[in-house]
Amino acid sequence: MKVSEAVVPDLLQESRDLDLPSFLAWAADRFGPGAGVPTLAFATSLGLEDQLLLSHLDEVPAAGSRVHAFTLDTGRLNPETYDLMQTNRERYRLPVVSYWPEASAVEALVASGGPNLFYDSIENRKACCGVRKVGPLNRALAGRSAWITGLRRAQSVTRTDLHRVEWDGAHGLVKLNPLLDWTLDEVKAAIEERDVPVNALHAHGYPSLGCAPCTRAVKPGEDERAGRWWWEDADKKECGIHVSAHTPAPKKTFAFGGLQ
Ligand code: SF4
Repeated sequence: MKVSEAVVPDLLQESRDLDLPSFLAWAADRFGPGAGVPTLAFATSLGLEDQLLLSHLDEVPAAGSRVHAFTLDTGRLNPETYDLMQTNRERYRLPVVSYWPEASAVEALVASGGPNLFYDSIENRKACCGVRKVGPLNRALAGRSAWITGLRRAQSVTRTDLHRVEWDGAHGLVKLNPLLDWTLDEVKAAIEERDVPVNALHAHGYPSLGCAPCTRAVKPGEDERAGRWWWEDADKKECGIHVSAHTPAPKKTFAFGGLQ
């Protein structure tokens, strides 16, 4: 299914009153398989939000043929994250494909600045995220029409200007953020109610998960993403996957039906 920015107002209108399960079923119907290949993607970092979304997507009829679920294995993840990948394989029918960075690009990166070059400068950190995350993301999204993310507005100052349905100008597809207006407590309550498996690190003060060397536990009262790239300014804390990856929805506005 070929899409353009012009479809966003119609998509907002169609989905405005849908609760989470209905929104995901609508997305699977709307962007169903094109030429036998799922054109709807779901990107998971295996955080709380993405685990909740996976549990719901697994219940969408014929999800395996209509939703391309994937994660970015940077090669620098925590052991607990790999444990959760294994658990997901046993728990859910919907497969989650791991995309790896190109080996030659990682070799060149490490040769240029060492394995921990990201601590030296923002440029180095963005170069590492570019090789280990953005490149594989672009491969995962190639040929898709839309992708689902677990972004929430309250996660950080860099995520306040998002829309539940928006145009992702960087990738040329529709971006769906069904949990955008959920709070962390609402996500946790839904996870408990549905008995969704979660990363063991959450119990040790990690609300947001990323690569092991770039993520630490947060202190009480800190921003949810304060533990990500903690040595950088808060307004620079994105890895290139989401910052500047969207353009605002068209000026025509709609009231958002409440997911929550
Ligand atoms: Fe590299 Fe850190 Fe970015 Fe992971 S989060 S890709 S280790 S800079």
